[in-house]
Amino acid sequence: MSGYVLKNISCLVTCNDRDEIVSGVDLVIRDRQIEAIGENLAAANPELEVMDCQGCLVGPGLVNTHHHFYQTMFRGIPEAQGLALFDWLKTLYRYWQHMTPDVVYQGTRTALIELIRTGCTMTTDHHYVFPAGQKENPIEIQIGAARELGMRFHPTRGSMSLSEKDGGLPPESVVQTDHEILEDSARLVEAFHDPEPYAMTRIALAPCSPFSVTLDLMRRTAELAREKKVMLHTHVAETVDEEQYCMDTHGMRPVDLMESLGWMGQDVWYAHAIHLNDDEVARMAASGTGIAHCPSSNMKLGSGICRVTRILEQKGKIGLAVDGSASNDGSNLWQEMKRAYLLNHLFYGQRGLSAYQAFRLATRGGAEVLGRTDTGYLAPGMAADLIVISLEDPAFAGCHDPLTAVVNCGSSDLVDTVFINGKRVVHNRILLGVDLREAYSSAHRAARDCVAKNTSAGN
Ligand code: ZN
Repeated sequence: MSGYVLKNISCLVTCNDRDEIVSGVDLVIRDRQIEAIGENLAAANPELEVMDCQGCLVGPGLVNTHHHFYQTMFRGIPEAQGLALFDWLKTLYRYWQHMTPDVVYQGTRTALIELIRTGCTMTTDHHYVFPAGQKENPIEIQIGAARELGMRFHPTRGSMSLSEKDGGLPPESVVQTDHEILEDSARLVEAFHDPEPYAMTRIALAPCSPFSVTLDLMRRTAELAREKKVMLHTHVAETVDEEQYCMDTHGMRPVDLMESLGWMGQDVWYAHAIHLNDDEVARMAASGTGIAHCPSSNMKLGSGICRVTRILEQKGKIGLAVDGSASNDGSNLWQEMKRAYLLNHLFYGQRGLSAYQAFRLATRGGAEVLGRTDTGYLAPGMAADLIVISLEDPAFAGCHDPLTAVVNCGSSDLVDTVFINGKRVVHNRILLGVDLREAYSSAHRAARDCVAKNTSAGN
């Protein structure tokens, strides 16, 4: 069996250029691609497994444009709750410095399981904590975990080089030198980056933020990324504190500072981008710079509200993201969709997003932010990354619009089937090939042991 026919789809949300939503069609998956969409395709493909999709919504898989997987191991630490970004970070650095390779693996695996079970088919991750003295490379550990689970993965090689003693925020124990960072970045790109269509692994480079790396590292990372033809990612304009830091330290607003370092263009995407003025929104949109909107994290840390409607009006590139699980605390993009929708309506009232716009942000919008043209919408020749949701569930009863049903009504755990690169990884709401009890207990044990190290160190 080399594929599937999804037959009699009641609601196919393509997210194509014409925003087509069609009913009564079949969709053929062969190997890693969507081969055809049309009527009565099952008879012509008798060798393929038929899945009856009557009563189902089929759409592109969800795309997550920002995360810190390791943070799944540090959720709900009492002393970090209720803090704003800078105090929150300073509290958590003390825990993160004890991270072992196993904690990185378990955190990655946990986040990926959460994402895949809820319909995410492509994700990035921003890993920037490299505790001193560790031999195993966290990014390689993450790539291994993503391959085990079959996730399409864009890891970013994060970095921190500006410790407290040099005017930055993180402690000495979690920063590296600029040389170490650039050397490892180049090596990872050479070893793992796949520029070809349908790639399952692409690397990007991602210094953590303007307050945790040197400006020289920001500039040199951009040069290296362009030389290697990979994307650039970091946090920007997340909080008013950050804006104040950039003004006080560099005499520039965050976006101006990043632009002066070469960080603007089709190959750049930023997490958050909340505190933008009209001119900055316009410049980012015109340059094709992407934005990862993280509504849960922004609400939890009290950071502010991203100007999504304005960004879309300017034809800016924007997708959704769960952000790290210490500031969210989950890896479920349906929650982000609903919160993006609600937060946007709180801010914009009647100019707020439609349910379809929220869904498009979470699918095609995210794929565009990550620089992919081979996934994110459903059409022949595209990668077979898609989700199937039965609408015939009490959670959706009485709803007269299928997109409102999945975005705003329902429970977020109702994804029935998930395909990634043509492979069925979730079926009948079961993540195939993973023992969830074992996954829980090994991850929870690793997290507990790591957090206990901070307590016993008396930090
Ligand atoms: Zn983040």
